[in-house]
Amino acid sequence: MTFEVNEEMKNWAREHFGSIGIGGIWSPDGAGLTYQKLDDNTWKLVKRMNHPDVMENHARFATLMMAVGINIAEGEQVDYEPPTNPEQAYVMEQQHKMEIAQTWTHDCGKRICEMALDEAVAYFVSEQEVLMESGDTDTIEVWAYKMQCPECDGEINMDPDDYHLLAGDDLFMQFVDSDGTKLQAMTRRQMIETADTNELGVLVGSCSPNTGAKVPPWMWGTYCRIIGDEEE
Ligand SMILES: [Zn+2]
Repeated sequence: MTFEVNEEMKNWAREHFGSIGIGGIWSPDGAGLTYQKLDDNTWKLVKRMNHPDVMENHARFATLMMAVGINIAEGEQVDYEPPTNPEQAYVMEQQHKMEIAQTWTHDCGKRICEMALDEAVAYFVSEQEVLMESGDTDTIEVWAYKMQCPECDGEINMDPDDYHLLAGDDLFMQFVDSDGTKLQAMTRRQMIETADTNELGVLVGSCSPNTGAKVPPWMWGTYCRIIGDEEE
């Protein structure tokens, strides 16, 4: 195996590893490896997939890290088996992303997963023109979540996908209407129960059927139930 570290790679490494805070995670896509920063000069291997390619990836990363004066602590990592099919690979990848999301912290050091995620509010940011593969353009809505850090009172703005990773499906698939009503998208099973008992839900489009307010795109086309205070 020949692997040489050049100046360009060293510059990238200094910048990249320096930009991550203490306790932060580095898990390059598809590499099967997860590292955590212990201090400015030490990273720890925390997870490793049991596969020859992964061992080789690790050897390269270790070479690169050492070239910029970073030590790697090994030996306490969790070793896990590679997925046996694409579905399992997808599930593992999602779980992995969720685990990493649990380590995210606000600028003040407070863990975001420990904050009141159910109080975060989704809000419309802007419309954006995007170029489709066909060459046409389409307009998409950009949304974000806003919440307040209980530690430093700072405002946190979060990408919806990041919020989803942190908060899970249930919290992600609900929204608060402009009149304060909270709507929760039903699962297929819940829709069946609703139909069988003749209860009524609310079919949600791009705007709220109750108030006409904008609805986040990931809620479009869902069938929702209204959540009362007593159920919370
Ligand atoms: Zn904070």
